[in-house]
Amino acid sequence: MNSELGRLIRFQELNLKIVGLEERTKQIPEEVGRLTGTLEDSRQALEEKHQLIEEEQKRQRQLELEVETLRDRLSKFRGQLMEVKTNREYQAMLHEIEGTGKEIEEKEDQMLEGMMAIEEREELARQANEVYQREEKEVSEKRSKLERSATQAESEIAELQKHRRQLEREIPEGLNQQFQRIASVRNGVALAEAKDQSCQACHVKLRPQHFSEVKTNQKIMTCENCNRFLYYAGS
Ligand SMILES: [Zn+2]
Repeated sequence: MNSELGRLIRFQELNLKIVGLEERTKQIPEEVGRLTGTLEDSRQALEEKHQLIEEEQKRQRQLELEVETLRDRLSKFRGQLMEVKTNREYQAMLHEIEGTGKEIEEKEDQMLEGMMAIEEREELARQANEVYQREEKEVSEKRSKLERSATQAESEIAELQKHRRQLEREIPEGLNQQFQRIASVRNGVALAEAKDQSCQACHVKLRPQHFSEVKTNQKIMTCENCNRFLYYAGS
């Protein structure tokens, strides 16, 4: 094979490897951000569950105070019951006592319901906490894996760039410029394989004479349609 053509092929390979690694590295911060977002969502869900428990507990304390007040009132009424003078006053007092007793019962029912609600919410919070703990572990593992692969890719890129610079020095200036020109308009790909008598990049059929010259790999040849350098890799 023509040595310059061989260099162009290696040069192309290096370019594509570098671009591929750069693309992958570029996606890493985005991926880390997405993972962090997922974890934040779970943390908020857990926080909300805790808030619901706190709200219910606050309501419980409020009910306790109300029951206490009602009990005080009840014992006051009972004391007053001994001091009433008329039957009408006595009946009215009994009525008050009964009403207050009912109110206490209602509030105690509410407290019981509240306690059951707290238990249910605590179970939900426990589940949400499990999810959060599991995700936190997964996310931190994934994150450090991504960070490791970013570091690794960076040093790989640096190494490949070094090789590319070395190789570039061995490519004649004019040829390199031609390569860069084609690469810049062909999405970074300045070389194409010739196979089955056609350019594998643009799929245009090569003239038989042209193809047989390309097949020797002895000359720098280009595709007459897309201008890419052509090489032959065997049938
Ligand atoms: Zn072509």
